[in-house]
Amino acid sequence: MSLVTTISGNKIAFFSTQPYDKAFFNQYNDGFELDFFETQLNSQTVILIENTAVVCVFVNDIVNEAVIKQLAEKGVKIIALRCAGFNNVDLEAAKQYNLKVCRVPAYSPQAVAEHAMAMILTLNRKTHKAYNRVREQNFSLNGLLGFDLFGKTVGIIGTGNIGKAFAKIALGFGCKVLAYDIVTNDEMIKDGVEFVSLETIFKSSNIISLHCPLNAQTKHVVNKDSIASMKDNVMIINTSRGGLIETASVIEGLKEGKIGYLGIDVYEQEEKLFFRDLSADIIQDDAIQRLMSFPNVLVTAHQAFFTNEALTQIALVTFNNIKSLLTENDIENKAALLV
Ligand code: NAD
Repeated sequence: MSLVTTISGNKIAFFSTQPYDKAFFNQYNDGFELDFFETQLNSQTVILIENTAVVCVFVNDIVNEAVIKQLAEKGVKIIALRCAGFNNVDLEAAKQYNLKVCRVPAYSPQAVAEHAMAMILTLNRKTHKAYNRVREQNFSLNGLLGFDLFGKTVGIIGTGNIGKAFAKIALGFGCKVLAYDIVTNDEMIKDGVEFVSLETIFKSSNIISLHCPLNAQTKHVVNKDSIASMKDNVMIINTSRGGLIETASVIEGLKEGKIGYLGIDVYEQEEKLFFRDLSADIIQDDAIQRLMSFPNVLVTAHQAFFTNEALTQIALVTFNNIKSLLTENDIENKAALLV
């Protein structure tokens, strides 16, 4: 039976919305009534949903069993993620309460891969410092020394859409590219990527870039032991999910000088910080404050996806997913349908 027969109205409730979400979803809307809430979805905010079969959520919305039960009681049938990662949704609970869950599997892998490379180049060549210096008429080069990327070994963990795009960029720079994934990719091997064990990635890479999803196997893949096995002065880049890194161990590694550079676009406790202007607030999270105090750490606030092309694709694919589920109870692109 089509879901459309069971819904009332044709409204989508969006949570954690920013002005750019409203702009892109309004631009590509094709007949839905859109309800935008700035607040995060959690067990307190479910109450905002009225007469809605579809909720649209983002990376830091809380979609655990308790929230899913409340959504089901409110008549919600579809949880549409407007992102690729889905670690914040309890898929088992969604199945149990008969809710469909969809996502946008590959809206612009290049957006994230290019941001990972931007972080590498910034940390290495210190263009952020050079920009400020020159504006102060300080034309000295002291402290700006970098290294050639050409010939360096880059280790990639997770070679899905983003990892694959990032490998191409690193190969383009003349790097030796090693990769670890639970499945190997023949096309990448043909391009010159060498698939190796996780231990070899840690042991042999000058730069390690994380592109696997956060799950029980990958949680804290960068931890005290893995850091100890890495090369001295290693650069670690995380544009995937904060939980891949054990923050306390990385802080230790930076203090000891074992980790030479850290670039993070994601942070384990980011839901209390990111996507907000907290410039007048006292930040209570001491770990992020410590991280931001290191001169060799670059933090961006989950912006790797943030390009015009990506936001266009996110809006188009999300509407398509919802339409397909409402009319056919299915989505042609199997990677988009989680439950
Ligand atoms: P994808 O599903 O195409 O690829 C993920 C890859 O990780 C797959 O090849 C899979 O086999 C591999 N993998 C799964 N478990 C693994 C394990 N235990 N060890 C090693 N590899 C494993 O996903 P994608 O589109 O490439 O996205 C990767 C991640 O990037 C997402 O899960 C999401 O968390 C993150 N992301 C971040 C942003 C951002 O703005 N910072 C944007 C989009 C996605």
